[in-house]
This record gives sequence, structure tokens and C-alpha cells, in this order.
Amino acid sequence: MKPILSAKNVTKRYAKGAAQITALRGVSLDVKPGEFLAVVGRSGSGKSTLLNVLGGLDEVTSGSIFVNGKDIAGMKRTELAHHRRRTVGMIFQSFNLIPSRTARENVELALAFNNVGRSERRKKAARLLSSLGLKERMDHLPSELSGGEAQRVAIARALANDPSVLLADEPTGNLDSATSAEILGLLHDLNRGQNLTVVMVTHDKASARRVAGRTVEFLDGRIVSETGKGIRP
Ligand code: ADP
Ligand code: MG
Repeated sequence: MKPILSAKNVTKRYAKGAAQITALRGVSLDVKPGEFLAVVGRSGSGKSTLLNVLGGLDEVTSGSIFVNGKDIAGMKRTELAHHRRRTVGMIFQSFNLIPSRTARENVELALAFNNVGRSERRKKAARLLSSLGLKERMDHLPSELSGGEAQRVAIARALANDPSVLLADEPTGNLDSATSAEILGLLHDLNRGQNLTVVMVTHDKASARRVAGRTVEFLDGRIVSETGKGIRP
């Protein structure tokens, strides 16, 4: 099957004052449609940088990122915006919800950027939040939600524009073990039930093993091992 996202010999350097930091040192990786891929490795090994360049949030220093076979570097602004908003959805360790907006408004805002009409936005946000078990929490602010609920709102927001791929950066990093298991179960169900492709960064190898079909390990900006070949566990 053709990869949906592909990194080819990607390097990424950051300038830090006069010094330079190399976050990625020649990473090549294919993400296949429908797979659940885990990315593990210790802090500072380049995992978030990889997700950011795959998601089109940051540019590579050398090498290429392909989206459905198309090089991001050759995309026009509108195509790149389409990739960021429609091909991928992202979730983060710290949820990144807008604190002054309710759960429903956070989801609606993702749709507003995509020219969906107001009543359609309200309906779709409510539908998504209900499907994630948040029917009774829609009108709450992020500060009134538990960590697990907040992450589910973030997942609803990430799914608002029907992306093909969910990029998840340590989605359980701020959650206790029971809530982590719940969120992992949810990601697993979305992958299986809705054929959502998932790329999940985690430092927790045991979680990765439970839900991912394939795991790649990063060390110092490089992929140093890969386990599991199957699309699913
Ligand atoms: P991980 O997610 O595996 O912890 P990161 O991808 O966040 O690792 O970081 C890889 C390396 O790049 C680290 O040394 C980090 O300090 C550096 N880095 C990441 N983002 C930036 C940035 N915006 N500016 C400077 N250095 C950065
Ligand atoms: Mg990180």
C-alpha cells in the first residue's frame, strides 16, 4: 500500500544562539494507511520534531516529507493549509485547549477555520463530543474538566475536519494510569473502527506494545530500531 505520510532522509537543525542543535539526523519512515505506529525514545531524541514536520507545522532542513506521494516543499500555501487542517489532526500531552472557550466551542473553532457554516459547526461539534462520551460536558470550560475529559475534547477537535491521520504527541503524558488506558483504548478503537491512521509518540514502551502494530525507536535524532511489521497488533 502507498504510504500516506513519508519522511525521506530528513534532517532538522535548530539554531540556538551561535550553536546549532540537530534534532533529526537522516530519518526515513513510511506511515501506511490504517496503521497504528508508535514512536518511542527518550526525551530530546527528536520525536516531537518528527511529528511537527510530518504535520507540516515545521520545515525540514534537508530531505523531504511526502503527503500521499506529494512533496510538502512543492506545495502552495493553500495546499499546505489543507494538509495541516484536513489530512492530519494533532493532539498533545498538555491538550492545548483554549481555556476561555467551552469544550464545544473548542471543537467548533477547528471547523470555523474550514468554512463550515455556524449551525453545521454546532451540530458536528455536539455529535463528535457525544460520540466520545462528553455529551454532558460540552458546555464546560477546560478548567472544569478532568485530564481524561480534556484529552477527549482535544481528540474531538483533532477529528473535526475528518483527517486521515491523527498525530498524537505523548497523549497520555499528563494522565494517571487508568485514564491513560482509557485514552489508549479510545485511540485503538478509532484506529480499528474508523480506519484512522495513528502515529503516537510515547515514552511508555508498554503502552506502545499494547496498541501499536509497529514501533520505531528514536535515539539522538535517528531511528535505531523497529519492531512489529503488521498493520495491527
Ligand atoms: P522529544 O520530543 O523526543 O523529547 P524534541 O523533538 O522535542 O525531542 O527535541 C529534539 C531536540 O531538538 C532537543 O535537543 C530539543 O532541545 C531541540 N529542539 C526542539 N525544538 C526546538 C526549537 N524550537 N528550538 C531549538 N531547539 C529545539
Ligand atoms: Mg517531545
